[in-house]
Amino acid sequence: MNKQKIKKLLIANRGEIACKIIQRAKKLNILTLAIYSDLDIDSLHTKLADEAIHIKGFLVSETYMNGNLIIQIAKKHKANAIHPGYGLLSENADFIENVEKNKLIFIGPNSNLVRNMGEKDKAKTLMEKAGLPVVPGYHGNKQEIKYLTNKANQVGYPLLVKARSGGGGRGMRIAENKNDFSIAFQEASNEAKTNFNDSNCILEKYIPKARHIEIQIFADKFGNVVHLFDRDCSLQRRQQKVIEEAPSPNLNNEIQHFLGELSVKAARAIKYLGAGTIEFIADIQNGIDKNKIYFMEMNTRIQVEHPVTEAITSTNLIDWQLKIANGEKLPVSQNDIKINGWAFEARLYAEDVNKNFLPQSGKIYHLKFPDTLNHPNCIVETGTKSGDNITPFYDPMIAKVIAHGNDRNAAIKHLINYLSEIEIAGITTNLDLLIKLLNNKNVKDGEVTTKFIEENIKFLINNEIDDRFKALVGVVIFKALKIISTNTLSDLYIWKPNVYPLKISMKEKEILYKIVCYSPNEIEIEFNKKIFLFSSIIINQSRIEAYLKGKNINLSFQSIKDINSGDQIFTFFTKQHTFEVINKSLLQSKENYINNLEDSIIAPMHGIVKIKKIKANSKVKKGDVLFILEAMKMEFSLTSPRDGIIERIFIIDGQQVSDKMKLLSLKK
Ligand code: ADP
Repeated sequence: MNKQKIKKLLIANRGEIACKIIQRAKKLNILTLAIYSDLDIDSLHTKLADEAIHIKGFLVSETYMNGNLIIQIAKKHKANAIHPGYGLLSENADFIENVEKNKLIFIGPNSNLVRNMGEKDKAKTLMEKAGLPVVPGYHGNKQEIKYLTNKANQVGYPLLVKARSGGGGRGMRIAENKNDFSIAFQEASNEAKTNFNDSNCILEKYIPKARHIEIQIFADKFGNVVHLFDRDCSLQRRQQKVIEEAPSPNLNNEIQHFLGELSVKAARAIKYLGAGTIEFIADIQNGIDKNKIYFMEMNTRIQVEHPVTEAITSTNLIDWQLKIANGEKLPVSQNDIKINGWAFEARLYAEDVNKNFLPQSGKIYHLKFPDTLNHPNCIVETGTKSGDNITPFYDPMIAKVIAHGNDRNAAIKHLINYLSEIEIAGITTNLDLLIKLLNNKNVKDGEVTTKFIEENIKFLINNEIDDRFKALVGVVIFKALKIISTNTLSDLYIWKPNVYPLKISMKEKEILYKIVCYSPNEIEIEFNKKIFLFSSIIINQSRIEAYLKGKNINLSFQSIKDINSGDQIFTFFTKQHTFEVINKSLLQSKENYINNLEDSIIAPMHGIVKIKKIKANSKVKKGDVLFILEAMKMEFSLTSPRDGIIERIFIIDGQQVSDKMKLLSLKK
């Protein structure tokens, strides 16, 4: 950097964006100072930075959003600049004002600009003045319900009530008709008060068939402003982005340039500085129409999805931010910025798609991103590694994967290939959904609205696993039982037939297998009345390969012992799915059997039990056959777990028993 003013940069953030800022700053010879909470002691960003300061506590309010303390740390450790990343303090005008008062360099626009753009009412008023079309509605000051009801009726229905200080899709309610309005307003304004400490709302015409299109802009202190074209962020859940792309699909050159120029005009009108995004909403009821695209809001910071713009314009936007804050000129002029190819970003979240995208927390015990050497068109931006915990206190995003291709189809293909090789175990993620979305015809055709995920959720979560894989799972678990015991195969079970029953739970459903082991590499699996004969089986700790009807089939997997239940939990990875399997067989191995059931015999499954010649107070020896269980058209011998004396028999001969029922106890 020229005449370097920024000597040492404090990064007031965590996760992937903190890591990226640290890496870019180092390239520009800026010293880096990370901060971290109690929960991030071992996080990647603390290791990458030149220095890292611990802030006690784990709540964001006491750590990453503790503005006063962060400024004190910067001064104490001689950092003269602060990069806020996105989220957290990045759009907090009071914090920025405080940074300015303390004569530190803030990487972003000044506090006045942030304050004006941070409130949707002020932003809309300013943008209207600058000549931008805004979504029809009411964005004045008055908040009396009578007045607003009148305004709402004028705007018409359906209508959106939006918290003026809102963000992240919160503080928004739809009023479908007149009768809904007062409840929608109350709910939105209450949510706004709780989340943003500001109950004021604006009203907007609700656009049912909408696309989210945004323009990346950059401005320096010399009055130069450029745009870096558009991104499409229509694939959303709960009004939050999931997959983004650049440029926007099915947008003609005329509209593309029109939006770019409009955004530059807006940035000039407010004398903007640094990186910013102008978000537009396009009403596509009758196809995309230049006259039906409206300004929605401006984000005065770097966005999560900025890498797709970097990919298609061959730029490095974090470097640009730092250079502009350093007082330098924009490195290029508008004419130099050209679109090259197409880029997609997928956000990998710890969330349960089946439970309305509920954020998940827990330990990621295995995380493997494919080597980008084998995927030269992809990059991963992440701050997460194997062994990290995803906590409920911070954003559940694990990583962003960005793919660049010569054209849209190529970019999608690269991204699918990459995602389908990611392995993540220990926590539920949206990975399957991302792959399913990218394979979807509407997504491939670029024909989606902001409601696409919501409207197609039933189809998108209907993610059946192929029976062949389900069968192969049986082989893995059967083999694993052998691995975890030092005993020979025949010793593993307390019954002796060469048809072994195995019960597992997969996606909350139980599967009962019958397994016939012809040889270590030839195993037959029967379940749901279907038979699969696997041959040439090769298995190691994380992968199985076999032949099924002359075709190669393989699965990768990881397994871990659950510390609470003692269950062995397996996570399997196919090209489309990640799924967990728990071995539910009670009598899974001698080892477990003895641990759990030293003094009793428990029915391993439903069936009919015949009692051998035994009665209470009989002496028995370890391994004696005490019952025969008839189940799944097979007979299993249930044997005594140890030498001892029978205390009680709980069933009568020929009784139907259920799974886990206690059949017999031995005296202590
Ligand atoms: P936030 O600041 O909470 O992110 P935005 O104003 O950026 O809120 O809107 C987030 C998303 O909500 C948009 O991407 C879009 O999907 C939806 N949305 C916003 N305004 C409208 C509208 N007037 N009609 C329909 N959908 C809208």
